[in-house]
Amino acid sequence: MKKLATYYVFSSANTPLLKVDKPIPELNEGEILVSIRYTTLCGSDLHTYCGLRSEPCPTILGHEIVGVVEEISSSHSGLDMQGNPLRIGDIVTWTIFSSDPNTDVYQSEIPQKNDKLYKYGHRQITEQDNLHGGLATHIILRPHTGIRTLPKEIPLAVAATINCAVATSAGALRLADTVAGKNIHIAGIGLLGLVSIAMCKESGANNIIASDINSDRLAMAKSFGATHTVHLGELKDSTLLQDIAVDRFIDMSGSPDAMETGIETLALHGHAVLVGAVFNQRKTGIDAEKVIRKMLTIKGLHNYNYTDFSTAVDFIIENWQKYPFESLIEHEFPLEEVNTAIAYAISQKPIRAGLSIHTSNEKF
Ligand SMILES: [Zn+2]
Repeated sequence: MKKLATYYVFSSANTPLLKVDKPIPELNEGEILVSIRYTTLCGSDLHTYCGLRSEPCPTILGHEIVGVVEEISSSHSGLDMQGNPLRIGDIVTWTIFSSDPNTDVYQSEIPQKNDKLYKYGHRQITEQDNLHGGLATHIILRPHTGIRTLPKEIPLAVAATINCAVATSAGALRLADTVAGKNIHIAGIGLLGLVSIAMCKESGANNIIASDINSDRLAMAKSFGATHTVHLGELKDSTLLQDIAVDRFIDMSGSPDAMETGIETLALHGHAVLVGAVFNQRKTGIDAEKVIRKMLTIKGLHNYNYTDFSTAVDFIIENWQKYPFESLIEHEFPLEEVNTAIAYAISQKPIRAGLSIHTSNEKF
């Protein structure tokens, strides 16, 4: 008899997910079957659930995932993206997407923008194409997915966050250019903001200013290495941004007010990286004359590339004990309680809620 996978189906906004059991299909060429161990609920999962963004439905939400290799198709190279052998039982993390390099539009710096993109946690379920989201017992990794093995000591809850929040933060730092010795302002202290602060700290940043509307989040920012904090509502009139010449502004908040002030207060030759504004809102105003006279650079980042993902894996391997990453997964639920977990995440707004996942046919 074929082994079953369980997944939870999202069909329409604000409607509980429905449990489905299906036989696990035979692997196609180059695929890997992973038994999921842990999934964290990302902000975009919750936005989709609440109807603030739309996905092709029905779908399996969840893309911050970590799992264990259960089966490797014979045509897979059997290697991770560093060329290390993949073995059954290895704990693995992987890029949120697989991007086919054999397309006309493929650019190696932005593989996440490709006509033939396969994005986990963002696909419609069809008869031929399922097991592609994190709210499930299993997922099938498609060819061109960047895979890395992880040391077993890293807590699964922390490992799960690598392939969205941590990798996107790595991308933001890459676009921010040199961070060492610079003064940084990071607006929006969710998981991306906290990770970015820790990454700036590890990269030798000088002052790191964190801004947010929530004072608890600002206290967390300090524990991840922020040297100064300021409430977003007071940002405009704060003397802090006059006293400290900000060289790098990274926006994770998506707030037009924060982006306007952040760019406005950049020092000569400053860089702004905009990451948070992924939902519909008013336009952000920019003083073009200031951008010109101060020779500012403004960049946008959506998701991340393969290199950013690998940087994120290395960062967590190095630093998961150095900063209180584990405390950010504020509540853990078993997969069967996924609807309770979503309700909790929406009402309590933790940095992350986690789903611990064990398959019934445990082998490891
Ligand atoms: Zn995400």
